[in-house]
Amino acid sequence: MINVEESIERKKFTNTLEETALESDLRKSSQQVEEEPSSDTWRSLVDKIYSRFNGEGDSVLFDMGHRYGTDIAIEAKRQDMDSSKAFLTLVEKGLRSGLGNIEVDGDSIFGENLIVRVTDCPFCFGVSAVRPVCHFFRGVVSGMSEVLYGRSFNITEKNCTATGNGCCEYVLEEQSYSDYRLV
Ligand SMILES: [Zn+2]
Repeated sequence: MINVEESIERKKFTNTLEETALESDLRKSSQQVEEEPSSDTWRSLVDKIYSRFNGEGDSVLFDMGHRYGTDIAIEAKRQDMDSSKAFLTLVEKGLRSGLGNIEVDGDSIFGENLIVRVTDCPFCFGVSAVRPVCHFFRGVVSGMSEVLYGRSFNITEKNCTATGNGCCEYVLEEQSYSDYRLV
């Protein structure tokens, strides 16, 4: 993306005449890259992963979500946000990036009795299943909470839109023997 922008800048510098067709294409593709993913993007990603990783899709999606959540929390810490504010950035990302409408309940400062609820979840939209299916987002909550609270949690998706509930609901329980307990 940087290369595309640099290329456009160079062209502007060397050629101040009208925008060429190539420059126009580069500018448009650069803008597309900068846009956040939509809910359609998440759904097609999930479809591709399940077709590529036979039987392993759940854990691949969990690991991807875990990394995504870890990155959000590390960036929040870098900006000196407390854990409550860090979760607000996830809520904002949810609205902006098609992850759904996210609500956080419980003590998000100390990580006690936390419950995360998502409506309009892109991962189970139009899906009917006997078990909850939103492994990417379960991973997001797991990765975020490990970094923010310095200890590991079991994240259970107790309710899922795919199983007929009104929202996806994730319950966080601290692991009795936490690999990550730092505090
Ligand atoms: Zn779900």
